[in-house]
Amino acid sequence: MNPLRRTKIVVTLGPSLDDPAMLERVILNGAAIFRANFSHGEMSTHENRIKMVRDIAAQHGKTVAILVDLQGPKIRIGRFKNKKVTLKEGQPFTLDTQLDEKEGNEQIVSLAYKNLPRDVRPGDTLLLDDGRLVLHVVKTEVTQIHCQVIVGGELSNNKGINRLGGGLSAAALTEKDRSDIKEAVRLHADYIAVSFPRNADDIKEARILLKAAGGQPGIIAKIERSEAVTNIDQIIQVSDAVMIARGDLGVEIGDAELPAVQKKIIKVARLFNKPVITATQMLESMTLNTIPTRAEVSDVANAVLDGTDAVMLSGETAVGLYPDKAVAAMDRICLSAEKHRNINAVRQFKDAHIKHVDEAIAMATMYTANHLDIAAIIALTESGITTLLMSRVNSNIPIYGLSRHEATLRRMTLYRGVYPIPFDATHIDRRVLNQAAVLELQNRGILSNGDLVVITKGDLIGVHGRTNSMKILTIGDLPDYSSAAT
Ligand code: PGA
Ligand code: MN
Repeated sequence: MNPLRRTKIVVTLGPSLDDPAMLERVILNGAAIFRANFSHGEMSTHENRIKMVRDIAAQHGKTVAILVDLQGPKIRIGRFKNKKVTLKEGQPFTLDTQLDEKEGNEQIVSLAYKNLPRDVRPGDTLLLDDGRLVLHVVKTEVTQIHCQVIVGGELSNNKGINRLGGGLSAAALTEKDRSDIKEAVRLHADYIAVSFPRNADDIKEARILLKAAGGQPGIIAKIERSEAVTNIDQIIQVSDAVMIARGDLGVEIGDAELPAVQKKIIKVARLFNKPVITATQMLESMTLNTIPTRAEVSDVANAVLDGTDAVMLSGETAVGLYPDKAVAAMDRICLSAEKHRNINAVRQFKDAHIKHVDEAIAMATMYTANHLDIAAIIALTESGITTLLMSRVNSNIPIYGLSRHEATLRRMTLYRGVYPIPFDATHIDRRVLNQAAVLELQNRGILSNGDLVVITKGDLIGVHGRTNSMKILTIGDLPDYSSAAT
């Protein structure tokens, strides 16, 4: 049997994946979650891309998830008369909320976010274009921020602005995000990523809007503001998953703080039973090159060792020259790293706080699987929650999530070490259900005679969150079920 990669790969859709042959290779190389970045592009383009992903995945019998990433309140400068300017160290430069959007020049540029002059103070540091240019705030007026250029360089239209240390007041959900949430529901997204949340309330608001739109997608909190790190526990508790959005986060807290903060976020996410995606610049040089740098290989491997559920590619697959090679590189780096199990295992059995029956079954299953020579865990699941709980425990045993719900199968694509398999248990005689589940895996070439497996399920098949039993079986020691299991 080929080794199964436990860590999941998220790729970002974009022009480079619009070629169906390239997209097919990316799917076959192991990408399972596809991010539609709503910061760029028309809705019809996103819709076409999502359809193509689903069509090609279906042709190959693969379960894939769609992640819609909301733009959020990214603060940007306006445009320049000549598209770009060059700022010199020491010169004055002004940001102006009343200047015409297109009228920027070497001295001044417009700013759509009207509150910024009130949010910043003299002495603050503003970072432009992901920190490439640095401004020192000298003086603020009602509509203007007067700065001195500390680090100059070329500055082109619509570049982003961050304040070092964070603290800008913009609410996480913009008007555009509110209407995009409805679009995401219409497109049956499996996950929605909320950009720049400050606190748990921003996530709760997204959930209210999502409910109102009639949608079920999981909410991913993107940790990319300084205050989100401060409020990390509360944000994680109300989210379904988190993304360590290292691009913006690195600008706000300083790049040198990132490695330690990444480890902390992964640890807290696992503690609260939530999956986590590590994102941005993981294989950045592969945007233009066929192989990654040694430093990038180490970065991906370290995220795996930290215990991340998924690693993400952004520009590498959206606009890069070699999306298929980038996914193949991630696949092999993750597989190698997974052989070395110094994962951040915060869920030790002795200090596990077990509150629910399904949690007790999940923990008992993982304890058993890690101590007996178990070949596979088979979870018959409605909501996927049992597989999520199991996947929080450090192990190298595959967890097969068998479900009749498409949405559950797709949701499970994100969980480390969990493999979704379509399986409808509702029409199977309960007396032969275990055997039918085993047969499903045998038919896929996953199990063979003599293998020991653990099966979990609830008494009431078809009811959510009711897993209450685990059973250990040896494959081959089963009664004949072939007629009953059809
Ligand atoms: P983005 O988010 O790619 O939407 O900016 C990720 C990040 O900031 O790292
Ligand atoms: Mn970002």
